Amino acid sequence: MPPVRPRVPLVVLAIFAGLLASVWLAGLYAERRHWSELDIEARGQLELYAQSLRILVERFRALPAIIALDTEIQALLQESSDPSARERLNRRLQRLNREAGVGVIFLLDLQGTAIAASNWREPGNFVGGNYAFRPYFQGALREGSARYFGVGATTGVPGYFLSRAVRDAGGRTLGVLALKLVMEDLQRDWAGQPGILLVVDRQAVAILASRPAWRFRLLQEPAAAEPPRPVDARRYGIREVRPLALQPLRPLDGGGELLRIDGPEGRRDYLRLSQPLADEGWTLELLREARVPGAAVRSYGLAAAGIWLALAFLFLFLGQRQKNRRLLLRRRAELERLVEERTAALRKAQDELVQAAKMAALGQMSAALAHEINQPLTAMRMQLGSLQLLLAKNDPAAMRTCLERIDGLLTRMAALTGHLKTFARDTPGGLRERLALDTVVDHALLLLEARIRQDAVRVLRLRAPRAWVEGNAIRFEQVLVNLLHNALDAMAGRARRELRIALRRDGGDWLLSVADSGGGIAAEHLLRVFEPFFTTKPVGEGLGLGLAVSYGIVRESGGQMEVGNTGDGAQFVIRLPAAAPPDTLQAGSQEG
Ligand code: ADP
Repeated sequence: MPPVRPRVPLVVLAIFAGLLASVWLAGLYAERRHWSELDIEARGQLELYAQSLRILVERFRALPAIIALDTEIQALLQESSDPSARERLNRRLQRLNREAGVGVIFLLDLQGTAIAASNWREPGNFVGGNYAFRPYFQGALREGSARYFGVGATTGVPGYFLSRAVRDAGGRTLGVLALKLVMEDLQRDWAGQPGILLVVDRQAVAILASRPAWRFRLLQEPAAAEPPRPVDARRYGIREVRPLALQPLRPLDGGGELLRIDGPEGRRDYLRLSQPLADEGWTLELLREARVPGAAVRSYGLAAAGIWLALAFLFLFLGQRQKNRRLLLRRRAELERLVEERTAALRKAQDELVQAAKMAALGQMSAALAHEINQPLTAMRMQLGSLQLLLAKNDPAAMRTCLERIDGLLTRMAALTGHLKTFARDTPGGLRERLALDTVVDHALLLLEARIRQDAVRVLRLRAPRAWVEGNAIRFEQVLVNLLHNALDAMAGRARRELRIALRRDGGDWLLSVADSGGGIAAEHLLRVFEPFFTTKPVGEGLGLGLAVSYGIVRESGGQMEVGNTGDGAQFVIRLPAAAPPDTLQAGSQEG
């Protein structure tokens, strides 16, 4: 099949392309799923961290304001020279600090000098130190309160400073109360958690980090193409703030982002989630290492490949089946058309054969017919001669007898020629009518009457006027003429010449038998007599078509024909399904 060939590689190519595409898409899907799962997990984690940070700051937010209301503090600020009062305050701050769990609580006068501190007894304590330059001091003087993250000037420990201006009843500022929150513990708690947690301040510097190497690094966003602002490194207690270049890869559906960082642990890809802490002006950043799960991608790809191949083969199979079915239907239609054509051709050939056989029979009959017609003509000429004599004698009675004889002779001749005409007519095999078998036998005998008389054949008949069958009368007549003809041929030159034609009922059929005394058919010929062109007669006399055509005619009418030997001759039996008589009365009148 030439149109199929070029399609095969195309199909293979399409399947292969589909395979690649499905594996690729499945990988993409697996990755996306992984990211979204990770995103959800990380978001929960981030929310938790934000909460703990918020709680920590919140707990201490009000504390400076409350302590600032203390009258003892106000009194000391107004009269700071009393050493015993100073020590009392130191002790109080120490106790407060211990109970609240803050880092350090300390009090500054208007010049920024610490006059009391909770760590007054510790080495490197704040007392006496001047913090006028610190933003939390300046902010509190300016705005009443301030917050500031920075490394302690004295201790070098980073902390979150919360400050509050101390005012007297008249609203006059006396000094500043400050509180330093040390967040190292919180940071240590984070260390064991998955991912890298960063608290980034307004300057984009990580002030807290779950991994120490990330602390005090500058997160450099590439979007900010402007030159990085100079960062005050002293504030964080280090010499230089080293930047970390963030290279964004792509945003994720959940609001996260994939980015690449040349971090302390080398160049890695991270999933980054941020949450702003608006009150402090910080941003909480969570970085989760973004390793695409190879196993998941592989198994998704494998599953997709399997599904794709199964579908592709299913479609191929269905397509092939459809094609086969179409082909089969087309072949069947072609075959049916062929059978119809052949049947029509066969029918036509058969009709032609029947006609040819009939003509052959007519040819065989012609000699007898010439004799048949010649005889009455001679007889009539004699009768006419007698008539002339009788006319002279004027004997009307004898003349009438003479004329009656002539009339009889003419009637016979008319009947014979009429039959011959009908017999010779070509009748299509399809024609069917109801007919009486007796009449068919009558007509056939009439056609062969001359020969029968000439050969002095005795005809014995068993009639059955109710023997009605369906079929074509002319064709049945042809069958009978054939049978009778063969019988007469067989009996020619035999001492006993007897023809027995009988009609009998057998169940739902009529049996028409024609038997002769012609010596029968040789056993080896019995099976062959119905074959076309089988003849034992000399060339020119027999065509071997008569019985073959007769057999065909009987079969076509739904009947059967058999041959055998009985007594001293052959017997042909035709079996035809009985038809209902057209009218019982009419059938009755024909009887007898
Ligand atoms: P044809 O008569 O042209 O030979 P048929 O088909 O009518 O062709 O007959 C075929 C042969 O069957 C005859 O040649 C003859 O040998 C044999 N046959 C037919 N009828 C008889 C019969 N009644 N008795 C003996 N032989 C017969």
